[in-house]
Amino acid sequence: MTVSQNVIEQTEKFGAPNYHPLPIVISEAQGVWVKDPEGNKYMDMLSAYSAVNQGHRHPKIIQALKDQADRVTLTSRAFHNDQLGPWYEMICELSGKDMALPMNTGAEAVETAIKAARRWAYDVKGVSENQAEIIACNGNFHGRTMAAVSLSSDPDYKRGFGPMLPGINLIPYGDIEALKSAITPNTAAFLIEPIQGEAGIVIPPAGFMKAARELCRENNVLFIADEIQAGLCRTGKMFACEWEDVDPDMYILGKALGGGVFPISCVVANKEILEVFNPGSHGSTFGGNPMACAVSIASLDVLVEEKLAERSEELGNYFKDALTKIEHSSIKEVRGRGLFIGMELNTAARPFCEELKELGLLCKETHDTVIRFAPPLVITKEELDWAIEKIQKVFNK
Ligand code: PLP
Repeated sequence: MTVSQNVIEQTEKFGAPNYHPLPIVISEAQGVWVKDPEGNKYMDMLSAYSAVNQGHRHPKIIQALKDQADRVTLTSRAFHNDQLGPWYEMICELSGKDMALPMNTGAEAVETAIKAARRWAYDVKGVSENQAEIIACNGNFHGRTMAAVSLSSDPDYKRGFGPMLPGINLIPYGDIEALKSAITPNTAAFLIEPIQGEAGIVIPPAGFMKAARELCRENNVLFIADEIQAGLCRTGKMFACEWEDVDPDMYILGKALGGGVFPISCVVANKEILEVFNPGSHGSTFGGNPMACAVSIASLDVLVEEKLAERSEELGNYFKDALTKIEHSSIKEVRGRGLFIGMELNTAARPFCEELKELGLLCKETHDTVIRFAPPLVITKEELDWAIEKIQKVFNK
């Protein structure tokens, strides 16, 4: 039995079956490449759902991790730590907001955003107690905690986990009239992914984001952008909201905020929103820990210094063009922004992902019929050409 077979057997025997991974074990990685214990090399076209935008084990980020590990790793927020202040300043400057609140995972940051919006509704907007409402979109993915699954329109995400959080209304993604009708005097926030990642790289109709932002402003409703997956250069802009010149009241960030090296997430917003939190109202033992902050500072530096937004836009256009040219009766649509591309098929996507894996290209289907192509943004044009050749091969058989 190979090491890989053994690991898969252990995982299937002892692990709760809440995932359905491709049968590949990764034991090493660098840049866009990963290796299994048997020495087979693959290109990573998923980037851990966009957490590895900076590439696997970016040297600058790994150095920051090692340096910080030699100093201090965890203080809790009972004390200050010397990495948190500089990180706060950096993320606020980058996002153009006054304040940030760090957590660890994306779902926790979504929870934080909902708590902030609800308390803002009561303390600032004047909504009566326990009446605050959040509007979200069909097809959303905001994580797996109870608040996040309560927001979901997917019955599989919710089955057997009720009762769900009350005060949530869903509208069709990109439907401005539906948003207009859903807003009530009790609406605290409209929560949206500027591009829906897990739904299959779904882009709202042109003008929707801007119109929705205006509608929220007119109705004193917070416009909250979940950019956990689409943000931090993935779509060819630092923030996906920039595609429509939208300045949300709050960004929710995660994934690439820690460069795929250490978990860190956050919300960023202006004072009048985040000042609703007082000591004791929210927190996390690991939130804002010095390891995460040191790694995040280096991760953000890499995004800016290596111009990964520009790179994503340029190479994304090149990649999308190449994919669009592939003619095959199974391909329904190729869509995306930057290196965040979905190829929708009119048949199951998994067999194609399995064939691509045999050729050394790792990607994962989303929602059964979509193949998501989202390589680390440090990918070179030559590496992309290599990938394009493999994809052509699978579809030209
Ligand atoms: N929000 C969006 C848009 C996401 O894509 C994800 C993860 O895929 C999450 C929230 C949840 O993040 P995490 O898995 O870190 O909890």
